Amino acid sequence: MLFETLRAGFPADPATIAIEGPGLTPLSYGDLDAMTARLAAALAARGVRPGDRILATAPKSVEALTVYLAAIRAGIVYVPVNPGATAHELDYFRADAEPALIVDAAMLAALGGEAAAAAPSPLPPPSADALAAILYTSGTTGRPKGAMLSHGNLAANATTLIRAWGFSAADRLIHALPIFHVHGLFVASHCALGSGARMIWHGGFDAGRVAGDLARATVLMGVPTFYSRLLDRSDLTPDRVAAMRLFISGSAPLSAEVHRAFAARTGHAILERYGMTETGMLASNPLAGARVPGSVGPPLPGVAIRIDDPDDDGVGGIEVSGPNVFGGYWRQADRTAEAFAANGWFRTGDLGRFDDAGYLHIVGRAKDLVITGGLNVYPAEVEAEIDRLPGVAEAAVIGVPHPDFGEAVVAIVAPAAGARLDPASIPAALRDRLAAYKIPKAVHVVDALPRNTMGKIEKAALRQRHASIFS
Ligand code: ATP
Ligand code: MG
Repeated sequence: MLFETLRAGFPADPATIAIEGPGLTPLSYGDLDAMTARLAAALAARGVRPGDRILATAPKSVEALTVYLAAIRAGIVYVPVNPGATAHELDYFRADAEPALIVDAAMLAALGGEAAAAAPSPLPPPSADALAAILYTSGTTGRPKGAMLSHGNLAANATTLIRAWGFSAADRLIHALPIFHVHGLFVASHCALGSGARMIWHGGFDAGRVAGDLARATVLMGVPTFYSRLLDRSDLTPDRVAAMRLFISGSAPLSAEVHRAFAARTGHAILERYGMTETGMLASNPLAGARVPGSVGPPLPGVAIRIDDPDDDGVGGIEVSGPNVFGGYWRQADRTAEAFAANGWFRTGDLGRFDDAGYLHIVGRAKDLVITGGLNVYPAEVEAEIDRLPGVAEAAVIGVPHPDFGEAVVAIVAPAAGARLDPASIPAALRDRLAAYKIPKAVHVVDALPRNTMGKIEKAALRQRHASIFS
């Protein structure tokens, strides 16, 4: 039913362009509809049946996206993984997913040929509770978990986002995200296709190319690094973004500094939203109304968010429920049971609080919380203070073992382009702004913070690297 939900938003004129981009032959909505029907027939001819899984490992391409759409049309469970996965990682995904077919680059090309010759037949739409996809989490905090998402889960989130962000057939969305992750595969593609908009398709994020296409686009969806990289360019000007109506950021925290710098340069307040593989999008700053730097906004319509066991500052575990919340982890009954509270709420693993205006502020992951001398330090608070200091591009705050305090706060800081930072100056500069126990006991200056493909800072790697500085 997910495909039918999207198709309901296709434009009346089948010649309307659905996808175009540098080096691509434009694909119309009519073409997309016909091509995905033929691909569904080609998959059936290969013996892939409704409920079977296909493991998608091919690099990002329009053809790879059409296989996803064919799968949801046919009720085949789509399981995409990072095309850059190592052989060892692929072994894990293959053994875990037990796919009926692996769609790598060669298979994608073969299917293209077979689809051209296939005769599609009408397919019964899968039910709302049928499994649409298994998406692996990013593996930021451990081994990736396969999240089981139903047609109903994905359709509910798509409908909500199209409405909340005001998508229409007049939009032209720059799609420069990977398509093995919730952000690029579901959020970006569903918003565009489900509203009959046009996608300007980029094989990956290249700041120069994206900056070039901003002149003819209306929406950009990105991870925070997209925005900091765009800010490094002199061609990011108000003129260049004159036709843009919306810049959206998610997948990792957007620093308030980048938010402010982007607004100062372009006149646009980036709309930050919060979500995860297991749930799709949960909270979003508003289309109309205040977009608050450092906040992810109020819960989206239809999504309930509660703070479990709040402390004196209102900070506690973020728990959620709604039609978008997944059914469980693939073949991991233990982790599924741990993830859901007895009353059915899903525990996100993130910590946050609501402000008086009902906006959610994420203070970090529970696993990244630092407990020093028995006191909680929320990394996001310290990072925001360091980010404000002159000459700082960005900071990551972690806890490392300490003989007296249990854990000690440590900051890893990257300087702004051309700036030189004295590590000793940073704790001194924070003294007026933070309680003593929150001030880093060690500061390391590095050229750049380590990030994964989704632009998430790899804190587990940082903790490992700095584990023995106090012992
Ligand atoms: P794993 O679950 O395997 O450790 P992961 O949590 O990084 O990896 P994803 O599902 O890709 O996998 O990411 C969801 C997480 O990303 C959220 O739980 C949250 O920690 C973080 N996140 C997403 N959007 C934001 C945001 N706007 N601000 C802060 N954090 C965000
Ligand atoms: Mg997670």
